[in-house]
Amino acid sequence: MKLFNTLSEKKEELTPGPSGKFTMYFCGPTVYSYAHIGNFRTYLLQDVLVRTLEADGYNPCVARNITDVDDKTIGRSVRSNVSLKNFTEKWTRIFHRDCDALNIKSPNFEPRAAEHINEQIDMVKTLIDKGFAYAAHDGSVYFKISAFDGYGALSNLRERTLKTQELDSAGKKNLADEYDRDSVSDFALWKSAKAADGENFWPSPWGNGRPGWHIECSAMAKKYLGETIDLHSGGVDLKFPHHENEIAQSECANGKRFSRYWMHINHLLVGGAKMSKSLGNLYTLSDILAKGYSAQCLRYALIAAHYSQQLNFTFNNLEAAKNATGRLRNFFNKISNGAPVQRFAIAEWEFFGDAFAALLDDINTPACLGSIFKVINESTVEALDGMQKSKLAGEFSTLMYCLGLQLDDAEASIEIPEKIQKVAADRWNAKQSKNFQEADLLRRQLLDSGWVINDTKDNYSIEKM
Ligand SMILES: [Zn+2]
Repeated sequence: MKLFNTLSEKKEELTPGPSGKFTMYFCGPTVYSYAHIGNFRTYLLQDVLVRTLEADGYNPCVARNITDVDDKTIGRSVRSNVSLKNFTEKWTRIFHRDCDALNIKSPNFEPRAAEHINEQIDMVKTLIDKGFAYAAHDGSVYFKISAFDGYGALSNLRERTLKTQELDSAGKKNLADEYDRDSVSDFALWKSAKAADGENFWPSPWGNGRPGWHIECSAMAKKYLGETIDLHSGGVDLKFPHHENEIAQSECANGKRFSRYWMHINHLLVGGAKMSKSLGNLYTLSDILAKGYSAQCLRYALIAAHYSQQLNFTFNNLEAAKNATGRLRNFFNKISNGAPVQRFAIAEWEFFGDAFAALLDDINTPACLGSIFKVINESTVEALDGMQKSKLAGEFSTLMYCLGLQLDDAEASIEIPEKIQKVAADRWNAKQSKNFQEADLLRRQLLDSGWVINDTKDNYSIEKM
């Protein structure tokens, strides 16, 4: 399997580390509100990576953290007069519910920052002992960027390092760290308690306070996955400063390389703009469900574009996703005949080799889906014998597993008769060969039988009237 490594800026073969497992750390949600569909784009593409690694015989092991102590979680819990623990617990539950609906696999480890304060304090102590960090007068501790030569390697920021802690990689002002420090580029490892924090502080060698945001990932990755992990991933906006700071903390504390590969998932735009509450273009899973689309449709729409590209999300994407998942489901019903399909480790791909190869080549989901539909459009299932048919079904089902698409949910309950499917396919072919008169005739015929055809650019779906 090959992946574009953000660190080397090259596509590289993924080789497992000495543990035999393929260890991955994903930066998880800050639990103070609903995760939005841009967040879920990242978690979904990471999920496709995990599933594909599994299907390709790697042994993936994932830690994805829960950030339950920072300015936002503390600020909101204090304002709503709920304890930080109860407040973050509620949003963690909602996050899990949304992940389940979107069929995102649970990580092997899901450590919470507030439950790992000691591990974080230990790492800060090590950094001070080794001369990479210093305590300020107010009891906060800062990482000394000038002490780490490797700083900026991930985001190529070496030359402009000293003024850039103020901005994140999206160019947004980074307000997280407004404390007393030697250099504007130094970032907080430990923040001294302030009145606005209420009861939310912990004792430390530097006085009461709480960890800075970046240190939790370094400390928890080490605890659950070891000093060197195989792959680290997050949204592209985390590349700087968050991931750069994680590298600095981990490599200086452990004296070892932090992560061998880095994967960054690009932004989701809505209507051509970055999502924001003030623009009214911020969507959560619940918003999408309320508009009558299934979580599965959303999953399809969010994974259909390559992870390294920006995805401009529109409701047309969801319509197309609805059609596409409908066609996948019809095909699955046709080849499985309702019988359970055994997924298996596939030694040699006979039907969907190109589609799987696309996933192994830098998780190329659009090429994979294109390939799948090409096979669906061209294959004449009737001509296959029983063995071939079950091979076809097994391969298809393995791919659906990699993409995380479940074809047996509630929407599958409406069965489309074989005859209707045939007329619909004939109509599509007539339309494709620009025989519009014939296509229109067949469309009317379908309407008369109570079925509606929805077309998009590349696909169509059949719906009961
Ligand atoms: Zn992180």
